[in-house]
Amino acid sequence: MRRVLSIATLLLAPAALPGVAAQWLRISTPNFELLTDAGENKGRTAIVKLEEIRSVFDFSAPAPRVFVFASEADRKRFDLHEFRPGSFLGTPERSYILLRDVSERIVYHEYTHFVFARTHGALPAWFAEGVAEFYSALGQAIPGHLARLASGGWLPVEEWLSKEAAWIGGGDPARFYAQSWAFVHMLYTSRTYRDRLPGFMKRLEEGAPAAQAFADAFGKPLVDAVDEARALAGRNSIAMAIKGKRPDPQVAALDKTPAAIALADLSLDLNQYGHAFEIYTKLSGDRPDDPAAAAGLGALALRRGDYPEARRLLRRAIELGSREARTHYEYAMLVRESGGEPAAVIESLQRAVALAPDFADAKYLLGRAELDLKQKPEGGEVRKSKPAVTIPKSWNNPEGDSRLDGVLEHVDCLGTQARLRVAANGRRYSLAVREPGKIPIRNTGAVTFEFGCGPQKPRRIEIEYVAKADPAMGTIGDVTALGFR
Ligand SMILES: [Zn+2]
Repeated sequence: MRRVLSIATLLLAPAALPGVAAQWLRISTPNFELLTDAGENKGRTAIVKLEEIRSVFDFSAPAPRVFVFASEADRKRFDLHEFRPGSFLGTPERSYILLRDVSERIVYHEYTHFVFARTHGALPAWFAEGVAEFYSALGQAIPGHLARLASGGWLPVEEWLSKEAAWIGGGDPARFYAQSWAFVHMLYTSRTYRDRLPGFMKRLEEGAPAAQAFADAFGKPLVDAVDEARALAGRNSIAMAIKGKRPDPQVAALDKTPAAIALADLSLDLNQYGHAFEIYTKLSGDRPDDPAAAAGLGALALRRGDYPEARRLLRRAIELGSREARTHYEYAMLVRESGGEPAAVIESLQRAVALAPDFADAKYLLGRAELDLKQKPEGGEVRKSKPAVTIPKSWNNPEGDSRLDGVLEHVDCLGTQARLRVAANGRRYSLAVREPGKIPIRNTGAVTFEFGCGPQKPRRIEIEYVAKADPAMGTIGDVTALGFR
């Protein structure tokens, strides 16, 4: 639905592009856009299951893009975690559901991630996976999980709640999933917990450690509830019903070129730049007037920090008629950060929002840009007003010379770097994170902290940084440490 490319003729030789040797199909309903090289039957099965679980949630959102991969090789290349038969990926512009296995529980599980990603802030892995498993069985007990817990025992609570547990799980990810399901299943099916579950989730989204969030919401220790879940062993259940008449899928052949572009876009969103570069470069050689190639190569230039080249390519994509919201959005960002005309920034953002009305990132920036234009700030106002410098003794990182207390509103992911947007003292500041993996993060306790890209659930943050304006990044300094409260 989002992609409107008019490709009349096929200039690419078959199998010329990586990952597009097979026949691709586009199977769609008003709620889903599914691309598959696994044949019509498998694609139809997946979309029928997606419509079923959508009816259970009775949830409406812009259609996620669903891939159903035929081959193990494709799935692995595009998968985040190899042991999983499906994945969910949310980006500011688009959501993806990636599937190889289209069995009911897998499809329901990934769709649940989609719903929660759109309706909640970041939840810890154990909770997110537990919820996805709970809905995957429509509230019924999952015998396989119960058997695994009965034979293998439960993971120690600390290990289960840790960030790594989902991927390592003590070498046993299945046990992590089983335990997360059993616990969340109890929370949803027991009257004691169900009513106060929203309060618990809210505390988790705020970044409270699980034990604290649990005590706050339910007034008892988490470990006691874990014992309870172990004793209950999925005995309760609730019934969820698939509702109504669901739309019939439309099936159409997908040419190799749009299939290749869709795969390249996915690679880009998965930060698999090498693969994306290969496809876009091939495409730009074969079809120099296709805006998709310039848009993709421009997005890659942006991520490696080559801003002049990114601006040139994105501008070319726009001149060639690109209808990708991301292209207009990224172009707007580049114009703004190189001190370009605010009116030009607003125009590009308006086009991004018109093309993807759900693009929260673009809407946020558009609102900001319009506000800034009304207020007509003097140039460099933010940079002149460096906040007072006070470094607490506990923060002995010698590099930072400045400090900012505020609310983290937004994270721009720019390839290997990131930019934090923070509201403080009635203003907004941007700060560069040069090497995200090397920034010490304090006060997080047992909380899982991840920089999701895009708008953040507002959260108090303390930032220590070196005051050093970077006009290209639009930042006032480089972050040396972060703390959350
Ligand atoms: Zn999952």
